[in-house]
Amino acid sequence: MRTVYVNGDYVPENEATISVFDRGFLFADAVYEVTSVLDGKLIDFPGHMARLSRSLGELDMAAPVSDDELLDIHRRLLSENDLVEGMIYLQVTRGAADRDFLFPEADTRPNLVLFTQEKSLIDSPLAERGQKVRSVDDLRWRRSDIKTTQLLYASWAKSRAHAGGADDVWLVRDGHVTEGSSNNAYIVTADGTIVTRHLSPEILSGITRQAVLQCARELQIKVEERPFTLDEVRGAREAFSTSASSFVSPVIEMDGMAIGDGEPGPVARRLREIYIEKSRAAAI
Ligand code: PMP
Repeated sequence: MRTVYVNGDYVPENEATISVFDRGFLFADAVYEVTSVLDGKLIDFPGHMARLSRSLGELDMAAPVSDDELLDIHRRLLSENDLVEGMIYLQVTRGAADRDFLFPEADTRPNLVLFTQEKSLIDSPLAERGQKVRSVDDLRWRRSDIKTTQLLYASWAKSRAHAGGADDVWLVRDGHVTEGSSNNAYIVTADGTIVTRHLSPEILSGITRQAVLQCARELQIKVEERPFTLDEVRGAREAFSTSASSFVSPVIEMDGMAIGDGEPGPVARRLREIYIEKSRAAAI
């Protein structure tokens, strides 16, 4: 059984409790982060904490504890659970208050929960095989730059696509791909340029995105940050997605049509290797 963290306590997962009046539960009034773990160490930790601060700030939510304390909590959870490879999930909610659309008094105590998830990240059958994705309308609210727990649309769309034989969805707004259900989206054009949507309130600024684009630039691969269409996806040489839990993961099919030769492409493969190598070296 796992040990999880709830508001200062480390408890067995079946003893952890949160109020039914918690605003994360009632309103999805909560933000989260997922940090991956390799060799028992945290990947891109400062980036995740910086994004957490930003998400909290955008929603006028108080930080429950300092970044130093968050690092201590992450490390203690790793050791309590002997986690070598997987993820740590962190969630901050605005706290518990009588149900009301108005935010509660500023002195309401936020709730902070963290737990570990064991997962094989390096050996990934999906990364080996390549993902089949479907396009769907991006019907999320237009502040996808804030990492809220309001994930129902993405979860619903991915589940429906899965029921239809696909692995994931790419979201499309005004004819252009925004991002994946829980990842950033990329194509590699015929001339070898990597194209991914520019940062804006319409997408999450992926911590992995930032690191992978840096790897691409170091490899002297041209990068364009701009919107791209489904036609461009269909005509691309290859495609891939990035996230903390999947690193770089090739996409081989869009709406039933093969992308490139329908196999994981060399650019995605190379970036995956380099990202893993650099992340391992820099893990804390
Ligand atoms: N976009 C969305 C909508 C996501 O949920 C995620 C993963 N949380 C990402 C992009 C990728 O972000 P990161 O690389 O920080 O995991």
